[in-house]
Amino acid sequence: MNKKGLLVVVSAPAGCGKDTILKYAFGVCSNLHYSVSATTRQPRPDEEEGIHYFFKTREEFKQLIEADELLEYTEYAGNYYGTPRDFIPKLLDEGKDIVLKIEIEGAANIRRLFPDCVLVFILPPSFAELENRLQKRGTETEETIRRRVDIAKVEMFSIKNYDYVIINEKLENAVEDFAAIIQAEKLSIKRGIPVIE
Ligand code: 5GP
Repeated sequence: MNKKGLLVVVSAPAGCGKDTILKYAFGVCSNLHYSVSATTRQPRPDEEEGIHYFFKTREEFKQLIEADELLEYTEYAGNYYGTPRDFIPKLLDEGKDIVLKIEIEGAANIRRLFPDCVLVFILPPSFAELENRLQKRGTETEETIRRRVDIAKVEMFSIKNYDYVIINEKLENAVEDFAAIIQAEKLSIKRGIPVIE
């Protein structure tokens, strides 16, 4: 039986409720672990170093790139984001399932590096609702909100490259959908045929 962990890449426009869905999904699906990214974005009030991100200056981030310590990286809404290289292969070998919360370009790069990863896209019920949620969150300026909604509209065109899409209209349903995807993927024959006595 293939004991390697499952690599799940989740992309979602900012404000789609991705973090909330995943928070509850982690309670339902045992064995999930986050890959913590590095970023040059400023921490939000509730964010902690090493838990939500490794917060870096632009200079420090460039050093990570030069030292080849990132599996992939991109610039998004004026900041750099990147996935540390070490963590993923090690955890997959230990049989742990990993969730990466990254944008579409990073997701495509991860698929090239790990062809059997699972790509999940989360959508808001509408763009108006997306803008509304970003306004309510109150962590971004008007300009950043507009920028993020514009990016979301472009990101939509990449859905065809994903394996699954979840529409986050109702949180409970979205969490159930996510858990169902994980469950189905873990039972998939393509991940190894069990041998029974
Ligand atoms: P936020 O600033 O809202 O935390 O993240 C902005 C965007 O960057 C989100 O779409 C998030 O998924 C993405 N992101 C976070 N970490 C990474 C990463 O390591 N690599 C890539 N490519 N995107 C990331």
